[in-house]
Amino acid sequence: MPAFDFTQWPPFISDKDRATLQYRATTYALAHGLLYLSVGAQPPAPTSAIHAPISLFPTPFPRVQFEQAQRLQSIYNVLYSRIAMDTEFLDQIMGAEVGIGRVDEFTGQLWSGWRDLREKGLAQPLHLGLFRSDYLLHQRDSDLSLKQVEFNTISSSFGALSQKTAEMHRSLETSTKFFHASAHLTADNFPPNQSISGLVEGLAAAHAAYNVDGSRILFVVQANERNIFDQLWLEYELLEKHSIHVVRRTFDELAHQAKVSQKDSTLFIETLDRSQVEISTVYYRSGYTPDDFPTSTQFQTRFNLERSKAIKCPTIPLQLAGGKKVQQILTEPGVLERFLCDESKYGPQGVFSTRALAELRESWMGMWGLDLDGEIGVRQARERALELVLKPQREGGGNNVYKEAIPGFLESLPPGERPAWIAMELISPPMGLNNYLVRAGSGASIETEVVSELGIFGWSLFGAGKVISEKEAGWLVRTKGKDSNEGGVATGFSVLDSLVLVD
Ligand code: ADP
Ligand code: MG
Repeated sequence: MPAFDFTQWPPFISDKDRATLQYRATTYALAHGLLYLSVGAQPPAPTSAIHAPISLFPTPFPRVQFEQAQRLQSIYNVLYSRIAMDTEFLDQIMGAEVGIGRVDEFTGQLWSGWRDLREKGLAQPLHLGLFRSDYLLHQRDSDLSLKQVEFNTISSSFGALSQKTAEMHRSLETSTKFFHASAHLTADNFPPNQSISGLVEGLAAAHAAYNVDGSRILFVVQANERNIFDQLWLEYELLEKHSIHVVRRTFDELAHQAKVSQKDSTLFIETLDRSQVEISTVYYRSGYTPDDFPTSTQFQTRFNLERSKAIKCPTIPLQLAGGKKVQQILTEPGVLERFLCDESKYGPQGVFSTRALAELRESWMGMWGLDLDGEIGVRQARERALELVLKPQREGGGNNVYKEAIPGFLESLPPGERPAWIAMELISPPMGLNNYLVRAGSGASIETEVVSELGIFGWSLFGAGKVISEKEAGWLVRTKGKDSNEGGVATGFSVLDSLVLVD
């Protein structure tokens, strides 16, 4: 079979059919809660919902690489769980005494808070991770491979809305057959995506492990969050399928409303009627950026929750494990073996095959620290700037430095801050792939050349040296205009999309 020709996408349709697809896509989105809040300060009861930005066609993606990404998720779930449990490793890499916490203030503050707490003794041995591993297709001549962009261990978003987007494309197929524009667009090429029930299964597993009747799950959210429907779908599923109630609070609300009992470190939240509810699990949809911690009060609140008996998703060590620096260190010789091949530590059932390790490594681009061997890290970054992206220890988009901007940036970067940055080879996604992108209120869809980033969700419940349970939990596709370097939907650069598998 000849390889799929990405330059032939999207298939031709008439303007009239395209307008019909847009009408059906946007009305489906509005009717099925594929929603967003519009820009600007939000009233407490949102009155300004719009449909999320979406693509009219799903994006073609090779079946082989999609299945590979799904297969890798289980290993990643275990890998990052074990990293989070390896205090010595995290102290070394992320700590504020010898690791990058020395030069990256935010990392240092989180690490120091965690160190102080663990010295006093932590009340809850279990951690919950809801993860998302992000990938791009990498094309070299006619050879396609799957390459990891990053691994997220905190606030991995768009699980719910990506399921809704996949359902929207499925509905377009059912209702219009996409006007028979492409033989690829058939229902059996649309992979199922159960990310809502998948992610909620993880939260419910933590809640069950906590095992206190009437306890609730706390969602720690940002004030003025625009992506609330993505979170609300998880709440509805928790309540309707698992009879678990959710309380949503910001860090600022929790400063007054969260109490940790002296007796046994139970976390209680004050509700509107001033009664107290016990919290089984703390799920962070904030706390991943320094912007969430404008003063020391928010850090105090975070540490207060951390020391409580509630299960945290994630704990501070699990958040630290998701650092870009850890991703880079994993590419160094022997590091993967430390976590995946140590039979004396993880038992004969807990080690992975050389084949599995090789498959993980094949999905990585080259990376190094800017502090590598004196000047060598920076020199390599300068010389190879056009093939690179530089990343600091930040999440949430808008922090990276690309290609031409690298030499100037390196001039201005104080040498003391180099350890906080990694250099990563750029992934080269297939060229000439287009799609129609639709934003609320923007009239006709825009046809543009795009890049699509695949995310695979997974969860893991672990602690005291062991992974108790872990699963792959659905997927996400974000598609952005080719000329925008960054990929966050929330920052307005990209749309939600889904997949049509091709061979
Ligand atoms: P963040 O934590 O800010 O999401 P990412 O590592 O995901 O950081 O980078 C943000 C975006 O930059 C990605 O979504 C992707 O579009 C682009 N990007 C990151 N790394 C690479 C890379 N190695 N090659 C090509 N694009 C990349
Ligand atoms: Mg990212």
